[in-house]
Amino acid sequence: MSISKILLYYRFTPIADPKAVMLWQRDLCELLGLRGRILVSEHGINGTVGGDIAACKRYRRKTREYPGFHDMEFKWSEGGAEDFPKLSVKVRDEIVSFGAPGELKVDEDGVIGGGVHLAPEEVNELVDTRGDDVVFFDGRNAMEAQIGRFRDAVVPEVDTTHDFIDEIESGKYDWMKDRPVVTYCTGGVRCEVLSSVMKNRGFSEVYQVDGGIVRYGEKYGNAGLWEGSLYVFDRRMHVEFGEDHKRLGKCVHCEKPTDTFVNCVNEDTCRRQVLICAECFAQPETRHCGRADCAEVAIKALTQ
Ligand SMILES: [Zn+2]
Ligand SMILES: [Zn+2]
Repeated sequence: MSISKILLYYRFTPIADPKAVMLWQRDLCELLGLRGRILVSEHGINGTVGGDIAACKRYRRKTREYPGFHDMEFKWSEGGAEDFPKLSVKVRDEIVSFGAPGELKVDEDGVIGGGVHLAPEEVNELVDTRGDDVVFFDGRNAMEAQIGRFRDAVVPEVDTTHDFIDEIESGKYDWMKDRPVVTYCTGGVRCEVLSSVMKNRGFSEVYQVDGGIVRYGEKYGNAGLWEGSLYVFDRRMHVEFGEDHKRLGKCVHCEKPTDTFVNCVNEDTCRRQVLICAECFAQPETRHCGRADCAEVAIKALTQ
């Protein structure tokens, strides 16, 4: 039996011909039988692919042959091609969509003017020396933070990465402009852009967790400043760093602890992923996100 794996990677570097890179990447993945999602822009590449371990290794070696990608880091994760519905390789204005492609500046070393990268142990050192002055700022969608976040983190009210710029410009977070702000996200890619967007708007001391929550959790498990589960964008839905993790997620209906997101029953107009415990999900009338119109849909489904 062959072993499968998932590779996660990104690199910010100028790409003169994103379309050529996209076509090359698509051919390469098809040849190797990999599935997943790859975005290419003039600022870099961001991908997650899964397949046979030998194919993944070959993919990594071939991809590093492109000069801009030669020192790109690849993270290995459990899983395989079957975790993705298909292969999707696309050219986009942005590899993470903040809606600010004209603002981002990159060179061969990565994003220009981004936050200072902190290794996991440097995050803890910063908190040891600066104490409560340090603000953790969640760089993910608010929903993801419901089941896990850094201790006392500020969680912006964003449904998608696209909402960040308005949220930051709202003035709500101006109190942290002179404080040390540590941005964090799943694997680090969103904070590469977020930290530069914040610095451009007057936040004076911005950091980013190098390798994101994944790297921090691998280093400290549940014994550091991270609390709870990590939301992931594949079939697993969430992962933990050991069994003794805190359970931050609560059922929207009964507040019982749960880490499991499910789709609201109102799939036509809601599509929200929401925390509903097994007991409440077993009842058709509580298979909704809590919104009044969704509750109505749930009741209707019951009487049909
Ligand atoms: Zn419940
Ligand atoms: Zn709903």
